[in-house]
Amino acid sequence: MDSDEYLFLEEDDPPPDDDGPSEEGWTVLIVDDDEEVHRLTRLVLRDFVYENKRLVFLSAHSGAEGEEVLRANDDVAVAFLDVVMESDDAGLRLARTIRQDMGNSKIRLVLRTGQPGQAPEQEVILRYDINDYRSKTELTEARLVSTLVSSLRSYQQIDALEREWRVLAEAKGALEERVAERTKELRESENRLRSILDASLLPILVTNEVGDEIYFMNDRTGELLGLSQAEARSQGLSALWVDSRDGDRIFRMARERGRIPDWECRMRGTGGREFWALVSAIRMTYEGKPAVFLSFNDISARKVMEEDLKRLALTDPLTGVGNRRMLLDRGGEEVRRARRDGGWLTAIMVDLDHFKSVNDTLGHAAGDEILRGLAATVSDLLRDVDIFARMGGEEFAVLLPSTGLSEGARVAERIREACATKVFNGLGADAPLIVTVSLGVASLDALDGGVEDLLIRADSALYQAKSGGRNRVEIQICEST
Ligand code: GH3
Ligand code: MG
Ligand code: MG
Repeated sequence: MDSDEYLFLEEDDPPPDDDGPSEEGWTVLIVDDDEEVHRLTRLVLRDFVYENKRLVFLSAHSGAEGEEVLRANDDVAVAFLDVVMESDDAGLRLARTIRQDMGNSKIRLVLRTGQPGQAPEQEVILRYDINDYRSKTELTEARLVSTLVSSLRSYQQIDALEREWRVLAEAKGALEERVAERTKELRESENRLRSILDASLLPILVTNEVGDEIYFMNDRTGELLGLSQAEARSQGLSALWVDSRDGDRIFRMARERGRIPDWECRMRGTGGREFWALVSAIRMTYEGKPAVFLSFNDISARKVMEEDLKRLALTDPLTGVGNRRMLLDRGGEEVRRARRDGGWLTAIMVDLDHFKSVNDTLGHAAGDEILRGLAATVSDLLRDVDIFARMGGEEFAVLLPSTGLSEGARVAERIREACATKVFNGLGADAPLIVTVSLGVASLDALDGGVEDLLIRADSALYQAKSGGRNRVEIQICEST
């Protein structure tokens, strides 16, 4: 040991800084039962400056006191620990207390001992993160300063890391809070949506992509379909479609196109009641699963109204038989069918004889009654497949599918006879009244462009019947046959 390496405090040197933590300095704790070591250390490091900051010394003379000081000061950067104090390993015990009990991993520990043989084992150095181990004989300025500089440097790094870690932990906490908040908001909005769907008057269903599993169903759906949630879940939707192909198409289109705005189909509801439904479907995700959102409405009333309107548009209001438009529509179809199948089609034009004078003598109301009566008489003679219409005024037309010219002429003759024998009473006439009809018959010909041409030829036969004396049937023989 070279005693020249010791530095002693001169009598006129100012006393070192007093104890107490300072914002401005690096706090260094000396724990040693030898007052001389305290004095020497303070003296040697008196003018030490690192990163513009001086040292602030704290002192303790035993392991227990060291712990006390450390608990009161959390900004100690470096502690010089004597190993042998109140016990042989008081310094090592304090190191363990600092790291394990106090959880202080930032403070740098420098162990010092008077006997070189007391060096702790490497395992202890690693476990308690001992920064340096020095023999007290190495209390020279150069040794202390280099130990202190490296200790303060790693203290600084650890401190910076800890601060960074705290910022990250705070950010993580804030983020977790935000996520929890958003999750809560989402759940709330989902619940809100669900209660809206539940309260909706429109039946609503959410199913899987093929429609055989129900994920959600509102009360209105249950009412319309006569199913409880549980029944619907176990049965699926297959029983709902009157024609199962409608269900297949709806789900296929939803999968392929993403949405179906309006699909009209027949559905089966409470007690097996069939109804017309307007279905719309949208592909969506429900609780993370691919799903289809279906809403549907009972449009049976609208359908009935539509059918009524369609029927009215094709019906003659006075007689209740078809009108001109109906005959031309269906006549067009019959012509196409006859052409396709090579079948016959025969037309009869019917016109009331001298009807103007009936009207003039008995009045319009009586005339109407006669129109109704004769229309009914003709209707009664016809088959279901025959088409009968009032073409306007006192003129009617009949189309006889699958009927040739001679058979058509026989039907015309029966009509003529039925009308000529129908007696009208109580219409203000002096005697029982009979109104005859004249008829013209023609069959579809290769030269006919369409049903109108056929009717024109029947009409010219009718003209012949009129000029031939009325109450008779004339046949239009085709020029091409
Ligand atoms: P023809 O034997 O040559 O057919 O003589 P017509 O008097 O029957 O023929 P015309 O075309 O001269 O007169 C048709 C009459 O039918 C005129 C009109 O008074 C009557 N008429 C047409 N539509 C209606 C109707 O809706 N109600 C009534 N009551 N009469 C009608
Ligand atoms: Mg007439
Ligand atoms: Mg006429």
